[in-house]
Amino acid sequence: MNPPNTPPTRPVHPLQLAAEGDDLVIVWSDSTRTTLSWSKLRKNCPCAGCRAEREKPAPLLPIIQLEEAQPARPKSIDPVGRYAYQIKWADGHDSGIYSFEYLRSLG
Ligand SMILES: [Zn+2]
Repeated sequence: MNPPNTPPTRPVHPLQLAAEGDDLVIVWSDSTRTTLSWSKLRKNCPCAGCRAEREKPAPLLPIIQLEEAQPARPKSIDPVGRYAYQIKWADGHDSGIYSFEYLRSLG
């Protein structure tokens, strides 16, 4: 039981999201600021497909992929429940759900 008049502790959550040039800037409820570049977010897409891709052994010769040749750009960012954002990318990829915790850990 919580003592009376103690507000329930809410996990840290974003107060503000802003696109600034090549970056996503997040202002958190604890007034921390996180700046993440779109390419970093795209490269660290947490969906199962991208995770499997990242866990593959690196090729002997670097292969430039289309997504790396073009700068990553978001088409839209939509809130998912109260814990995450879904980023839809201009390249059509949209299965990555970025939880608040994950966004914090990337920053
Ligand atoms: Zn993905």
